[in-house]
Amino acid sequence: MGNMMTMPLTITSIMRHAQQVFGHVDLVSVNLDLSRHRYNYSVCFQRAAQLAGALSQAGMKQGDCVATLAWNDHYHLEAYYAISCSGAICHTINPRLHPEQIKCIIRSANDRFLLISADLYATLGRELGKSIPFEKIIVYQSDNTVDGDNSVDYDSFIQGQDIHFPWPNLDENQASGLCYTSGTTGNPKGALYSHRSTVLHSYGMALPDSLNMSLSTKVMPVVPMFHVNAWGIPYSAPMVGSPLVLPGRYMGDGKVLAALIEEEEVTSAAGVPTAWVNLLDQMKNQEDGIKKLRSLKMVAIGGASAPATLVEKIEALGPRVRTAWGMTETSPLGCVNALAHSDTNQVSINDRLKAGRPVYGIEFRIVNDREEELPWNGEASGHLEVRGNWVCRQYYHQEADNWDHHGWFNTGDIAKIDTESRIIITDRSKDLIKSGGEWISSIDLENIAASHPDVREAAVIAMPDPKWDERPLLVVTPNTDKDINPAELLEFYQGKVANWWIPDRVVQITDLPHTATGKVDKKVLRAQFEET
Ligand code: AMP
Repeated sequence: MGNMMTMPLTITSIMRHAQQVFGHVDLVSVNLDLSRHRYNYSVCFQRAAQLAGALSQAGMKQGDCVATLAWNDHYHLEAYYAISCSGAICHTINPRLHPEQIKCIIRSANDRFLLISADLYATLGRELGKSIPFEKIIVYQSDNTVDGDNSVDYDSFIQGQDIHFPWPNLDENQASGLCYTSGTTGNPKGALYSHRSTVLHSYGMALPDSLNMSLSTKVMPVVPMFHVNAWGIPYSAPMVGSPLVLPGRYMGDGKVLAALIEEEEVTSAAGVPTAWVNLLDQMKNQEDGIKKLRSLKMVAIGGASAPATLVEKIEALGPRVRTAWGMTETSPLGCVNALAHSDTNQVSINDRLKAGRPVYGIEFRIVNDREEELPWNGEASGHLEVRGNWVCRQYYHQEADNWDHHGWFNTGDIAKIDTESRIIITDRSKDLIKSGGEWISSIDLENIAASHPDVREAAVIAMPDPKWDERPLLVVTPNTDKDINPAELLEFYQGKVANWWIPDRVVQITDLPHTATGKVDKKVLRAQFEET
């Protein structure tokens, strides 16, 4: 055995380190009224200590679940640390889920307390409070207008508490956070993260070929703190001393994002493709875009496949794009497409669009239906499976058969892996289109449509077909002032894919339905077009 010390890998240790070493580092957060709140890590963690004090006085104990319905702001960040470092579980809830689904996951987690943003309290929280017996509902940015015996304004709640809290010594395997999947392919399932998985994931996320976070980067997570902990950025940033810019509830507002990037000199940002489509809508022209994004060096796109045109449009304005793959069950970091020293400037756009190489700490393989491993040759396509230090080994309070007996987790994605170890996601297994016994990749068809100058967003779904079993239907939204010509769009596919892949029909609609996490909601689309 080696002779080295072991220290528990806890979120508390990240907080202590940041407090000691990076206390002066800035945090900017957008308030509900669009004003910007500024402080530093030192004050942030002092307030987290006050919140921990208030919650423990209110009865919060180790192992309790505390729900949050909150945006990307400093209050939510304080709650992340106050709850987890007290030994309780920070249960982030997606406010865009259906209220019945929200109630269902609150009951399943048995949340005792709720921390909620004032706008969500007005639209959702007050009602929730009537049917869920929370012991305390803590409302932030409420201007003291909260009502009810068990609702309290956040700042009043923490007022008078000591800025030093006796943080408990925790086991690194203790649960720290809970996040339910968005349920696009079934009922939401809970991923229960631990302190250890979170710390190891934070290292992985900060690596140069992941999000490259450091003292010299200023990071803006456009991925929500209510879904997979904003890709773990709220842990990696304090770990490495990276200043944070939090866009509050305005993650979907391209104008706010553009202003933040320009005025706060953001260097790196992460989000789903739609976030960047919204941002690009704000650029009047090339020159304007270059000016607004001057400070931005890197844009990470994940959560869904990135169309070539989107990558090219962003890069034409200056920043480099990195595509990435991950999921709720993988904390979410899985693989990232960073350039190797040898391939700068030589990599084709097709290679750039791949989901990238596995990050150390999580292993990948592809298997066929008989669970036999397939080669990494860029040709063989199979079920993508993963295992690693920040991958779930089961769902929270739920039986599921996504794991094989060797511990590999079946992601539900279909992928190839090329000879340079880059993962290529071809589809979600549930979204694949089976035509005449052969598979068609909806992602490939979507990316081609999205590269047409008139198309803003595209989605391809399977439609039942008496002859072929299923055929692809292309649903598109037009760019501003454009009208899509279906015949011309179908013609656009010629030579790009096999003829039998080309969709039979194009439907133009004003807006594609998006899931609560900003991805195109194919479940809704399928239901919408079922009858047509
Ligand atoms: P979620 O758990 O909601 O974060 O969704 C995870 C799913 O998003 C994955 O299983 C993939 O189907 C999809 N996804 C994530 N990243 C990518 C990517 N780079 N390309 C294609 N699909 C992706």
